Amino acid sequence: MTKQRHVAVLPGDGIGPEIVEEGVKVMKQAGEQFGYHFQVDFGLIGGSAVDRVQNPLPTETLQICWEADAVLLGAVGGPAWDKNPPELRPEKALLRLRKELGLFANLRPAKLFSGLEQSSTLKAEVLEGVDLLVVRELTGGIYFGEKRREQTERGEKATDTLVYQDYEVERILRRAFEWARNRRKKVTSVDKANVLESSRLWRQVAERVAGEYPDVKLDHMLVDNCAMQIIHRPTDFDVIVTENMFGDILSDEAAILTGSIGLLPSASIGEGNRGLYEPVHGSAPGIAGEGVANPVATILSVAMMFRHSFGDEQAARAIEAAVTCVLNQGARTMDLAAPGDLALSTDQFGDRVIEEL
Ligand code: ATP
Ligand code: MG
Repeated sequence: MTKQRHVAVLPGDGIGPEIVEEGVKVMKQAGEQFGYHFQVDFGLIGGSAVDRVQNPLPTETLQICWEADAVLLGAVGGPAWDKNPPELRPEKALLRLRKELGLFANLRPAKLFSGLEQSSTLKAEVLEGVDLLVVRELTGGIYFGEKRREQTERGEKATDTLVYQDYEVERILRRAFEWARNRRKKVTSVDKANVLESSRLWRQVAERVAGEYPDVKLDHMLVDNCAMQIIHRPTDFDVIVTENMFGDILSDEAAILTGSIGLLPSASIGEGNRGLYEPVHGSAPGIAGEGVANPVATILSVAMMFRHSFGDEQAARAIEAAVTCVLNQGARTMDLAAPGDLALSTDQFGDRVIEEL
């Protein structure tokens, strides 16, 4: 029986269209092999949407995302729109889309592909076997708390407020424990409980949720220590779960473990199965249109789509295995190639993944 799935595809700006094309190619190939029939709807987003319809997130785009089972996104933004007023900034579209779709959990796996140790600035011994997942809370915390500016006797004063409610902490912790169950069964909850009240609530809720998952080990770690341990002993981690701002910083830090930002996928998930899948990197305007961008982050995001939105671990692993295989054969895009090495173009690399699949 064919499985019908509806996917919204939002190529966006810069290298977005080039890498998304490879992602869609791989999605269709995997779909054919694992018995899917896809309805694919393309939508405008970001700067290219501003140029066309003066809106970074047009209503039609929001509509197709609402109707879809999953959204595949390229990247948004670039210097062309940096001076736009806030409501016409490409990045605005992303924050709004996540909020509208209720995507409160951001997942960023960082896994080292063998043979790429040399691409990282860290020592190969430290990196051997790195395979961690950062789970970042995405719709709460200091990014969304009250913001204020006021004049005081001593000058201007600015305030940001860090707010968490127990239900917000509970739902993200529960997700982290569930994902840890499919991995090495270890959750590290990261906070700043020695200073922040919101972190003390976070820790309390984490302890309570842990009671429901006796098969998973829970550790607490202060964020400053975690920042150090990620580069010192990265293999100690399995799942790291943390609040919005700590997660923003730690997930970028974890990204350097793997060699190139062009390799890292991400998923943003909410209550249901619908998710938004996108590479961690940005629109890389400097290399846009040249056909040299690394499509791996986007292709691995498609694997995450099969895993999280379609519940298809087998298809997800097949895509990941195909990427691993192609890299093991020595295929490289420009960002990974050693000086003098021949680099494949974006679509040549995508074709190799399809062949392996
Ligand atoms: P943003 O603000 O959207 O994050 P940025 O300029 O901070 O943009 P990226 O767009 O991710 O960050 O680019 C960072 C660097 O990595 C750039 O030098 C870019 O060319 C490179 N880069 C990013 N993605 C890729 C990719 N898929 N393949 C090759 N190089 C990439
Ligand atoms: Mg950036």
